[in-house]
Amino acid sequence: MTGGIVGEFFDLRRETDADLLAMQCGDFYEFFAEDAETVAEELDLKVSQKSSHGSSYPMAGVPVDDLTPYVTALVERGYRVAVADQYETSTGHAREVTRVVTPGTLLETSDADAQYLAALVDGEGGYGLAFADVTTGRFHVSGADDPEGVLTALYRFDPVELLPGPALRADDALLDRVRQASDATLTLHTAEAFAPGRARHRLGEQFGAETVGSLGIGDPAVRAGGAILSYVEETGVGVLASMTRLQQHGASDHVALDGTTQRNLELTETMSGGSEGSLLATLDHTVTSAGRRMLTEWLQRPRRERELLTRRQSAVEALTEAAMARDRLRETLDGAYDLERLASLAASGSADARDLRAASETLDLLETLAAIVAETPRLAESPLVGVLDRPDREAAAALATTLDEALVADPPGTVTQGGLIRPGYDDDLDAVLEEYNAVAGWLEDLPAREKRRHGITHLTVDRNKTDGYYIQVGNSETDAVPAEYEQIKSLKNSERYTIPELEKREREMLRLEEQRNELEHELFEALCERVADRADLLGAVGRALAEADTLRSLAAHAARNDWTRPTVHEGGALDIEAGCHPVVEQTTEFVPNDLRMDDDRRFLVVTGPNMSGKSTYMRQAALITLLAQIGSFVPARRARVGLVDGIYTRVGALDELAQGRSTFMVEMQELSNILHSATEDSLVILDEVGRGTATYDGISIAWAATEYLHNTVGAKTLFATHYHELTSLADHLERVANVHVAADERDGDVTFLRTVREGPTDRSYGVHVADLAGVPDPVVDRSREVLDRLRDEKAIEARGGGGEPVQAVFDLGSGEFRAGESGDAETGVPAADAASADSTATAADGSGGDTTDEHRGRYGEEATEVLDALAALDVSETPPVELMSRVQEWQRSLE
Ligand code: ADP
Ligand code: MG
Repeated sequence: MTGGIVGEFFDLRRETDADLLAMQCGDFYEFFAEDAETVAEELDLKVSQKSSHGSSYPMAGVPVDDLTPYVTALVERGYRVAVADQYETSTGHAREVTRVVTPGTLLETSDADAQYLAALVDGEGGYGLAFADVTTGRFHVSGADDPEGVLTALYRFDPVELLPGPALRADDALLDRVRQASDATLTLHTAEAFAPGRARHRLGEQFGAETVGSLGIGDPAVRAGGAILSYVEETGVGVLASMTRLQQHGASDHVALDGTTQRNLELTETMSGGSEGSLLATLDHTVTSAGRRMLTEWLQRPRRERELLTRRQSAVEALTEAAMARDRLRETLDGAYDLERLASLAASGSADARDLRAASETLDLLETLAAIVAETPRLAESPLVGVLDRPDREAAAALATTLDEALVADPPGTVTQGGLIRPGYDDDLDAVLEEYNAVAGWLEDLPAREKRRHGITHLTVDRNKTDGYYIQVGNSETDAVPAEYEQIKSLKNSERYTIPELEKREREMLRLEEQRNELEHELFEALCERVADRADLLGAVGRALAEADTLRSLAAHAARNDWTRPTVHEGGALDIEAGCHPVVEQTTEFVPNDLRMDDDRRFLVVTGPNMSGKSTYMRQAALITLLAQIGSFVPARRARVGLVDGIYTRVGALDELAQGRSTFMVEMQELSNILHSATEDSLVILDEVGRGTATYDGISIAWAATEYLHNTVGAKTLFATHYHELTSLADHLERVANVHVAADERDGDVTFLRTVREGPTDRSYGVHVADLAGVPDPVVDRSREVLDRLRDEKAIEARGGGGEPVQAVFDLGSGEFRAGESGDAETGVPAADAASADSTATAADGSGGDTTDEHRGRYGEEATEVLDALAALDVSETPPVELMSRVQEWQRSLE
């Protein structure tokens, strides 16, 4: 048993489920026992030993005033830290846990990015998610039908802490995926907080029962939201008052962008994980943290409403043309304080006078910005006016004035030592200040008075902690000191004295100082409360400034890079003239390219040698669409963008394997998701999909996926492939067209032209390179022969939606052709292809010959005739219906 201070520590430690406990002991916060060792290790602190009741315990401490940076550092390393404060009681003092600082409830962050706390609930109607940023008071709820949806939301909000609901804690499969996808600390919050009734009540209390009702939020999301509120309250961060706006995420007016697509398109970070080289980093010229957060949000949640987009475009356009005003706006915004974060700081009592002062100045910026806009004819007509008019400007100005009238121009960083409040703001304070100033004046005049009275030249009056106020006289003149001077200290060159009058004034001074400090502190807290009460106003002004900054940033980038305003329309066409990749163009002499897709040309098969620029071309199409759908200009000479409801991208497993992150299984899961989720209004980018497996498997899957996307889904699709077989799809499927990235070979050198042209790539390109490289003529000739036969005779059928498949396949296992069985109409995968893929696989392990021998024996002369006919058939020139009847004929002759 331990008693004493360490015993108390252990008692408190048992009360909290935090990882560490900092307990106040006078002027220090102490960590004991294992906690002391952990903290010492993490923060490089010294450990001492504390004896208590016959045992000795490790102890590490930090001064009371320095706690915040230490706790912040620990929390940023993923620890949850409980803080126990000491308070006075009638019999001495006691301690209790007043706060638990966790990654998701850390207010004192220096990071400009949003910092989300998340809750995830698995309920009857799917998954429910809630996300709260305590630093800004943002609060989002959303639902997800499946784990993919959950991961996408987690990717987007990138929470630092996650509260899994009770049922989820047993779902190891999902939790594992969550852990892989996110760095969030998992915290087990009390299960009762997730109970439906209780959660709905809480959410209603916070945001109004009507809001919760009218948003029609699903039960699981309500439970997640309620649990977050309960957790925020329990940790004692004290910011609930700043959470005023409940937003529902995932509403249908946003463009679906799943996590994989956001990663592939490198929106906010590159595939290798850094932010440099991402679209965000390239586009970001914002000068405020809130502006940067908004730009990030826009990129992650593009929109579909044409009207909203045209409004943003018009603002951007006006700003591109008003260069001088744009600079003035930037300079004005540059000093802006993060108003969204202020509401939280004020509500939690962590704001100091400098924060409020900055807030007042930032509120005033709204008027300055509005004036710049009004003075600039090009801007005065633009939607920028509406952006700045959205918040209640009068209320903002009034709040700014209140703060300005209350606070001195350059207040100190501490709020308990006075010096914060302007004279004239409060009568009681003024009365105290008047007395205070009288005493201070008396003290100020004292040295001159005493010098004059006693004829002493070296006399000063000063104050320190131990002696209080004193009169100091140099040794040479101590003889002149009068009898009423009472000596209090001897120094080397001088003596210190006091006089009764000085002692009296000193007592007065201390009393007045204390009164003043207390009064000022009270007044300041009242101010904070007023500010916290106006959290909605601060949020609105903060968002207006952020939006002005974001639009300005988009305009600056457009002007600098000569981007163009795209026409956005509701139709299916995507028409880009001389388009560039927004990121690659920054570092490369970029060759612009055209892209044309419309209702009759919905599916482009993109071919071309390795490294020719296929992936870049397709990503460029996706990024231009995305930029158009945030209201930005785009890198092109001219662009018409049909608004899409979702962008889906998938990269074949081999490409991703190079990044060390994916497998063929994942590739197929992702493909399956696209086939389920994409609609005819979506844009789909498939980059070498099917590559992660054996050739015939790969072709079959790519083929079938193309048919499905073309016939059933109808999405606008760009498909880069090195399977030349797929280029013949254009002959069979109405809306498929071929384009290729051109390359030039001369004198043995291959030059990538980076130019995209109509039609399939020259398929003998590889053989040609082999020739140039000096491969012996017989081999090159034989390659051409084999290639020609493969091209003409190996038939993979096209299926135009329904109907019997047509097939005959060059069997790689035997090197001969054979007819196959009927394909599986449901998957659309030709059976013969699948079979031959199998035989390829078995051939590899040395037992491949058997099946083909069997086939050879089974069919007689007829087979040769069929094969001859097949060899002579020009598949691309024969109409599908005729192909079908020919194959049926062959099948009959083989029966
Ligand atoms: P692929 O997918 O065909 O293998 P990539 O798209 O990966 O080729 O591009 C290969 C390289 O070519 C990249 O380094 C890319 O930056 C560069 N590149 C691609 N397109 C262009 C272009 N239009 N202009 C200049 N460089 C380009
Ligand atoms: Mg590529």
